[in-house]
Amino acid sequence: MDQQTLSFLHVVFQKVQRQQDWRAALDILFVSLRESFVFDNVAIYLKEPQAEGLDVVYARAVGRGKTAEADAVWGQHIASEALEKGEMVLSEPKPLPGENGRLDLVYLLAFPLYIGSKLSGALVFVRFGGPAYSQLHIQTASLQAFWSAALIERRDLQEARAELDSVQRQMRLQDDFVSTISHELRTPLGFIKGYSTSLLREDTVWDRATQREFLNIIDEEADRLTRLIEDMLESARLQSKTLQFKFSPVRIDALIRDVATRINIHQPHLKITFDFQILPPLYGDGTRLSQVFENLFSNAIKYAPNSEVVISISATLNKIRIAFADKGEGISQDYLPFIFERFYRVPGERTVTGTGLGLYICKQIIMAHHGNIWVESILGEGTTFIIELPVNPLF
Ligand code: ADP
Repeated sequence: MDQQTLSFLHVVFQKVQRQQDWRAALDILFVSLRESFVFDNVAIYLKEPQAEGLDVVYARAVGRGKTAEADAVWGQHIASEALEKGEMVLSEPKPLPGENGRLDLVYLLAFPLYIGSKLSGALVFVRFGGPAYSQLHIQTASLQAFWSAALIERRDLQEARAELDSVQRQMRLQDDFVSTISHELRTPLGFIKGYSTSLLREDTVWDRATQREFLNIIDEEADRLTRLIEDMLESARLQSKTLQFKFSPVRIDALIRDVATRINIHQPHLKITFDFQILPPLYGDGTRLSQVFENLFSNAIKYAPNSEVVISISATLNKIRIAFADKGEGISQDYLPFIFERFYRVPGERTVTGTGLGLYICKQIIMAHHGNIWVESILGEGTTFIIELPVNPLF
């Protein structure tokens, strides 16, 4: 091989390796070598994991304005053949006497793909109207086939790695959860036990006002325990998908106002501002949707104390978008991707109690409505949760 070819391949190799996105890397691979190997379309077929048959995972038209995916059907047959034989297959048409259209003359070249040493798919090139593949073309194509298999293997490894990371994070969160939950259960139980023991003491007479104060604390702490246990059960049901949703028409603006009124009974100083358009009713589970807003209010009270809450709702033809904003301390960008995960709490010094279940529950409920929830936050400025709900999740 001459010096020029080697250094050219070296540059291509570097570009392909640096590109983290496997599709973009394949694009570079095929486009860069087109000078020495011209073809119209290329496609990669992989065995479907669950079923018989082949999936087109990548298709690209580099030739004269064809749509790659629609064309990928041309390679299906030869891809199966290469996969069956485990070797290269070349298919050249026999021109018919008289005029032959470009699309009648389909030159196909297929290579089996070994991914992780398993025969898993095939790479197929097509040339419409020829010319036939030369020996050099076949060698270049074969090099691209090896390379494609390596890129797909890298994709599989990246995906497996991401899944492993997520499982490991979940396991770590679960470990933390045991200590969080025991603390969360112990604190209210401690209050209940302490104040009821005090009330039961026979050597002390409490006046009525003190008795009431103690009983109120016991009552509030018992409510906190109930909420905690409900959250745990709810999150377990949501995770195992056994929670039933009852859908009916819901006026989301009225629902949010109701939740806000209830919150204001306990938190009279919390300023809540509404900015609502006229809205169509949406089809949803009112009880569960109320729970989402209760959680968001509870978080705003915990993590953005003394801030007002501004809730804006707007509607398009078939979607309702709700923005729930506070002007609290905000959340660092480093933690934003995780806050909807089960048990996740932003790390750091903690004075605020919690279990990391609230936002997980919110997300699951919104997803059960085929909606979406995400967060935008700027440290020191505040946090906005945005919810998008389809007016009718069944369509
Ligand atoms: P919990 O409140 O029990 O910790 P959540 O799932 O409700 O669990 O919230 C996850 C984390 O997201 C919280 O621990 C908190 O750090 C962060 N968070 C949630 N809401 C806000 C908010 N409005 N402002 C700042 N941080 C928030």
